[in-house]
Amino acid sequence: MAQVEKRTASVPALLEWEYAPAPEARDIVQIRERYGLFVGGEEVEPRSGEWFESISPSTEEILFEAALAGAEDVELAVSAARGAFDNGWAKLAPAERAKYLYRIARIIQERSRELAVAESLDGGKPIRESRDVDLPLAAAHFFYYAGWADKLEYAYPNRTPRPLGVAAQIIPWNFPLLMLSWKIAPALACGNTVVLKPAETTPLTALLFADICRQAELPPGVVNIVTGDGTTGGHLVRHGGIDKLAFTGSTEVGKLIMRELAGRDVRLTLELGGKAANIVFDDAALDQAVEGIVNGIYFNQGHVCCAGSRLLVQESIYEPLLEKLKRRLSTLRVGDPLDKNTDVGAINSKAQLDRITELVASGEAEGAEMYQPDCRLPERGYWFVPTLFTNVAQSHRIAQEEIFGPVLSVLTFRTPEEAVEKANNTPYGLSAGVWTEKGSRILWMVERLRAGVVWANTFNRFDPTSPFGGYKESGFGREGGRHGLAPYLRFE
Ligand code: NAD
Repeated sequence: MAQVEKRTASVPALLEWEYAPAPEARDIVQIRERYGLFVGGEEVEPRSGEWFESISPSTEEILFEAALAGAEDVELAVSAARGAFDNGWAKLAPAERAKYLYRIARIIQERSRELAVAESLDGGKPIRESRDVDLPLAAAHFFYYAGWADKLEYAYPNRTPRPLGVAAQIIPWNFPLLMLSWKIAPALACGNTVVLKPAETTPLTALLFADICRQAELPPGVVNIVTGDGTTGGHLVRHGGIDKLAFTGSTEVGKLIMRELAGRDVRLTLELGGKAANIVFDDAALDQAVEGIVNGIYFNQGHVCCAGSRLLVQESIYEPLLEKLKRRLSTLRVGDPLDKNTDVGAINSKAQLDRITELVASGEAEGAEMYQPDCRLPERGYWFVPTLFTNVAQSHRIAQEEIFGPVLSVLTFRTPEEAVEKANNTPYGLSAGVWTEKGSRILWMVERLRAGVVWANTFNRFDPTSPFGGYKESGFGREGGRHGLAPYLRFE
């Protein structure tokens, strides 16, 4: 692939050698030209008669067409889910429900190489991440919630948990199969049926998941997949037949949904944006912290709601830390998502690339200092060089707004109190990181940080047993762990 020079940096690169390409086999996933909707256990043509293209962001090639579900399609999907709920799924012995979830988990494991390639092709994330993070975690969520299906009464002693009914679920494009698993696994374990809408730029793994449901012989209508854009999502939100809405996406759309559901008897959970602080104290193990900072913001191109997008460094270690960080940035390999050497893949869409570019330009215009390592980017596709900004003021847009790209804003602090104040100074409250040798300081910080998840001496760690969710404009409700069951249950 032709390469173009982008920018030369002042810090010398650590690696003096090139890596030979190590491409994963693309043809392990057979992508059809067109995919219909998955309704009532069958693939159906959209009544809307409309289709949209899904392109690969690393090459800009059209991968396939997916159906754009209209109001009538959403109606059919919701009635299929209602039928499946009334006709048996909710009444099935919980241990039997668990068997389906275990079966799905096993099939995800068996087909994980195919699914990982599909995820990287459709969404642009490096195969190393889809293979080692998204897929194992997706399977783990189904295994974990399979275990809860017949133990709900132990999770809620002296109460009688019951499913809600039809759960509508809308997910974003940054972890397509993993977000699907976060949503579908607890919903089914609790005895609900589902209509799920994947994001318009990454529908592929949800469509392959439809095939997995058939392979697992899941009763028809228990899971329905309606592809489409925000208009399809809007039809689902407005549908009078849903009992629950689980949304993961932007704060802007989350607010619209909240308004739409006001006064209706629909349970709501919102997992929205973030602007996490990754806080490094002067006693932290610096090399370890540098790895955590890099993982915090450059993992998945920074398309991570809980990304550590603001680095808060204690002033006394600012210079050595920045030196180490800049050197580490120069070792990141940006390029072909299917190459097993790649650290940073393609930006998910042209629209997202434009948004990142606009916010980065605002950072420069407002007076922050930009650093980018020497980096060669492929000519075709959507790419952004891993970037960091110093001299950032708290009022800058790059310190307040979610960039959702590989862009880090660096700020400093002197005392723990100042670190807390700065960390909490955004409209969001999804996650935070604390790096220090002192256990007591970790506990002191955790008590004061307004964030749903606080990682200590690590970052971006996920586990199905651990609840995840936000404060403030990052949303409400928890996914994962025992807490993740409650949003799908009512109590008699
Ligand atoms: P988005 O809100 O534009 O889209 C998310 C989903 O909502 C998509 O499926 C989209 O088609 C649908 N949608 C769009 N408009 C809609 C409407 N009016 N009604 C109903 N559905 C609608 O967000 P995005 O750009 O796809 O995703 C990025 C955002 O998601 C970021 O802000 C990120 O922080 C957030 N996110 C949060 C979490 C979390 O767990 N908190 C996880 C991943 C992503």
